[in-house]
Amino acid sequence: MSDIASRVREVKERIAAAAARSGRSYEDVTLVAVAKTRPASDVVVAARAGVTDFGENRAQELIAKVKMVEAPVRWHFVGTLQSNKVRHVVGTVELVHSVDELELAQTIARRAVRTGVQQEVLIEVNLSGEASKSGTVPEGALDLARKVDELEGVVVRGLMTIPAFPESPDESRPAYRELCAMGNELRADLPAATHLSMGMTRDFEVAIEEGATIVRVGEAIFGPRARS
Ligand SMILES: *Cc1c(COP(=O)(O)O)cnc(C)c1O
Repeated sequence: MSDIASRVREVKERIAAAAARSGRSYEDVTLVAVAKTRPASDVVVAARAGVTDFGENRAQELIAKVKMVEAPVRWHFVGTLQSNKVRHVVGTVELVHSVDELELAQTIARRAVRTGVQQEVLIEVNLSGEASKSGTVPEGALDLARKVDELEGVVVRGLMTIPAFPESPDESRPAYRELCAMGNELRADLPAATHLSMGMTRDFEVAIEEGATIVRVGEAIFGPRARS
């Protein structure tokens, strides 16, 4: 078995165990394998090992890999999305995880309407308080979600967050708990906003314990990335 295939198996087991601790099962959590910086061949290996969903954080890299990977996988956009790249992403990905401004959502909506697709998105919330991080401030997040969902061509499916880098996985817990509470509040207005995209290699088990429905895992599947 390849390294990637054995890591996929291990990550799936850890997801199942964490889901069980939160009274759920493996099927309740979607594993998005974040393949940024990896060759398309790695995506193919992971897909053969049973991964169905892949994440990218750059539009160019996304479209290059979409062309190269013939396996029937779903793509997710998890990075900062610039307006001039929206056309590459809308209709290509299952879910845009990183909508944090109404203007970006409007650009997505225009492209979706023009190409006759419904683009599902998540609202990215900055719960770390770090100004350098992407995401909208928590105070305005639910209001933004409701406004974005009103746009023709766009459907808000939930919330996403990237916490401050934790010293230990447990440090991410308060942020994940807060995102879950926000999600519960949002669903009172938007019943389709069922998703919480939270948890990475360093803390995905904690995220699942706190209610994640989508985890975005890179290094635990593909191995360490080169540090730039
Ligand atoms: C790279 C990335 C991930 C995956 O990070 P790992 O630490 O490799 O698991 C998840 N989410 C986003 C937004 C990313 O950019």
